[in-house]
Amino acid sequence: MSRKTVGMINIDPLQTGGILTPEARSALLQWGDGYSICDFCPGTLNEIRTPPIHDFIYGALPEFLGTDHARVTNGAREAKFMVMHAITDKGDSIVLDGSAHYTSFVAAERAGLKIKTVSNSGYPYYKVNPEDYAQIFEETKKDTGKLPTLALLTYPDGNYGNIVDAKHVAKICHEYGIPFLLNGAYAVGRMPISAKKVGADFIVGSGHKSMASSGPVGVLGVSDEHHEKIFEKSEFFKVKELELLGCTARGVTIMTLMASFPHVVGRVNLWDDEVQKAQWFSAQLENLGLKQLGDRPHKHDLMFFEAPNLYEISQRIKDGRYFLYKELKNRNIHGVKPGLTKLFKLSTFSLSRSDLNVVIEAFGDIIKKYA
Ligand SMILES: *Cc1c(COP(=O)(O)O)cnc(C)c1O
Repeated sequence: MSRKTVGMINIDPLQTGGILTPEARSALLQWGDGYSICDFCPGTLNEIRTPPIHDFIYGALPEFLGTDHARVTNGAREAKFMVMHAITDKGDSIVLDGSAHYTSFVAAERAGLKIKTVSNSGYPYYKVNPEDYAQIFEETKKDTGKLPTLALLTYPDGNYGNIVDAKHVAKICHEYGIPFLLNGAYAVGRMPISAKKVGADFIVGSGHKSMASSGPVGVLGVSDEHHEKIFEKSEFFKVKELELLGCTARGVTIMTLMASFPHVVGRVNLWDDEVQKAQWFSAQLENLGLKQLGDRPHKHDLMFFEAPNLYEISQRIKDGRYFLYKELKNRNIHGVKPGLTKLFKLSTFSLSRSDLNVVIEAFGDIIKKYA
């Protein structure tokens, strides 16, 4: 929450999972001075024992991610780039799902990769079919003479909140011998997820998106098979890992991530209720004439709505397309992007049913007011 929106009911998908715990808020003050975590650094961030970064990175974090190894990064995108850069060569191909986040594209571009996508089914469900990965792998081989060197799935995607059967994708990747990266920016810290159970070689998460942290900060989990390549050390500075440029989140961000971590570990166990809340909320908005796109029934708090009735209002009133934002703001609700009326996303994560009721009633009132 910024100072402007503090105290409002926040339904912005970017923000609902990143609100600090009291513990993280106090860490923010305590560790705000630059490089204050480095008082007792033995040479690299991962090895700092006071504060207990070492134990976090070698113990609690990989256990939480279900991986053999883990690191804290400066964000989900930085983690994806590290993997792409470490295990591919320029000119190799990568396969992304058709709902992939822009950061997966730019990370792949920066690593010099050719990008192939598994298309989604388009309006209104935007489904990605795991079987299509095999087809794109074959197509890549036919077009370039070589199988892709990495495949990625966005779990869930950042537009529709769709959950693809990741185990199925992992199985196909393994049949082809292609390492599999799970982008869990909207999963890690919200819902239970284990890279091992899925069969993913790599998993990334976003601290400021889903782990109640100040950003930018992210997490990366790596299977034993790939750890040597990802964590290769410098020839000149023997303790420094190349892909991490020596040290990643060397400041207050990692301290907020660690301070919130016990809470985050606990809250993923409440996921079933989060899903039930999302489904109930979606049904209420649909009763008001909106339509929820993507997976039905929905399996995530991030939801995308189409609102022909709100769009119609925006076409004929003075405030035009900004009316929805303003009307919600007047009702103490933040999170639908200014200017959007026809298609917008929102999130119900960690909001109480009574706050969500306020949101539902607000939509109802606004629609009635302009009827
Ligand atoms: C938010 C988001 C990201 C980016 O996360 P950062 O930690 O800011 O790099 C990547 N992928 C998806 C699907 C996202 O929603």
